[in-house]
Amino acid sequence: MRQVIVAGNWKMNTNKAEGEALVAGLKAGLGETSAEVIVFPPFPYLGGIVAAAEGSSIKTGSQDLYIEDNGAYTGEVSTEMLKDVGCSHVLVGHSERRHVLGECNKMVNKKARKGLDDGMKVVLCVGELIEERQAWQMESVLDEQMSWGLAGVSADQMADIMIAYEPVWAIGTGLTATPAQAEEAHLYLRKWLELHYSSEVAENTRILYGGSVKPDNAAELIGQPNVDGALVGGASLKADSFLGIIAGAG
Ligand code: PEP
Repeated sequence: MRQVIVAGNWKMNTNKAEGEALVAGLKAGLGETSAEVIVFPPFPYLGGIVAAAEGSSIKTGSQDLYIEDNGAYTGEVSTEMLKDVGCSHVLVGHSERRHVLGECNKMVNKKARKGLDDGMKVVLCVGELIEERQAWQMESVLDEQMSWGLAGVSADQMADIMIAYEPVWAIGTGLTATPAQAEEAHLYLRKWLELHYSSEVAENTRILYGGSVKPDNAAELIGQPNVDGALVGGASLKADSFLGIIAGAG
């Protein structure tokens, strides 16, 4: 049985006080949930958010990492620094890093492997552009992003990988994949895992959906057999809406 995950990607939003108030609101409203809840705040606030989340089951992750241990990499942040401030998870390959910041599949793979090698749990984001979907290329794009992203990742290491299927056309646009569209892509990804790893890895790996998830569509999306939770952007910035999504996750 795969535990549902509801993860909030705050992107480049919030300030220190807002982020800490958001976590306080989540703590106050979380109650008994069966979901694993993770927040991904901006780098400068990570330590404060870890402290604010103390005493709750909320986990804290980073939106990115760099592939070296330390040294002359101006502006970058290492896994040791992230773990030092209490981060357990990291996002890699988010569509904004791929398409706004020009991150290639090879770098996504290096980041995924660095996170895994250094003991972090890695959320690998994949998803097609609208023009790729319209050209019936969804499967080939997912195949390429999965093959690259997971190159050199062993079956054992897959225990620390989560996949986030995030169709780029649904991120921050208000356009959500229908539950059937999400399920179709997730089923493709699960079969990919079976083909390239094993039925055990396919069965155990959590595949999250991301793209304009809100309290009113979360339950139906997460209710699909191969959708194991949500990666949420905009709606994770208010405690009420994020809690509504967590409630929808069951
Ligand atoms: C995201 O940033 O991963 C995301 C899914 O954003 P939104 O929920 O705003 O579409």
